[in-house]
Amino acid sequence: MSANINKDLSCFPLFLEKLQLHFPDALPLEEYMQQTSQKLKSYGFEDYNTLGVVATCRDEIAGPLVYQITKYWGKTFDLRSLGGFLIAGKTGISTILGHTPMEEGIGRFVFYAMPHIAISEEGEIGNVYREGIQKVSHACGSLGEVVHELASGHINFQTDYEDLEQSIVRQKILSNIRYGQELNQLDITKLASTIIADDLKGLLTAVDASVYKYTFLTGILIHGPKDTHWIYPQDCHVNGI
Ligand SMILES: [Zn+2]
Repeated sequence: MSANINKDLSCFPLFLEKLQLHFPDALPLEEYMQQTSQKLKSYGFEDYNTLGVVATCRDEIAGPLVYQITKYWGKTFDLRSLGGFLIAGKTGISTILGHTPMEEGIGRFVFYAMPHIAISEEGEIGNVYREGIQKVSHACGSLGEVVHELASGHINFQTDYEDLEQSIVRQKILSNIRYGQELNQLDITKLASTIIADDLKGLLTAVDASVYKYTFLTGILIHGPKDTHWIYPQDCHVNGI
């Protein structure tokens, strides 16, 4: 963790304690982006020859991740959805390939796919105070909705075309838990991260590795106090390496 950010947040020990407990070695977003983009440069990924791609939740507090990706990779393809699931599917991937800059016959893209969660200054998991809203709010609200439904025992399995994305979020989670299993906000976020990573790996198997060089980065985006954002990194995979 950056010494400066730790210093700034030293008055929020409960937050730092929970961050380290549940997301050990999480990095400040800015540091994560700097380190990963630096590494990717050594594999030939540069702003001018690479398309950025982002799949995270639609929530406005996930915006700083999009800002950072745009800062390092320029114009960025947006695959955001409720919860951060890859609802755009094969068509989304095929569109990305069509928009990827080509250099000497090789197209490059860098794909960030991660759900999000908040930790308040009091160390409360899932709680966040949004600008202009006095009462506590939640992130991720979409995943939190499924947590409440599981706890209540009332789950609508039908696909609701008036609420399509949330129906898919629900189905994705239910397909990956045992019957009767309950989840809290932390569990469901970690599960969502695994599902999103697996879905992405599956979708990318169809990409022609002789034409496209890509990287996928997965993990969890964490919102802390004082508008700080952190990344709990999982995969950082460059194809063909
Ligand atoms: Zn969300």
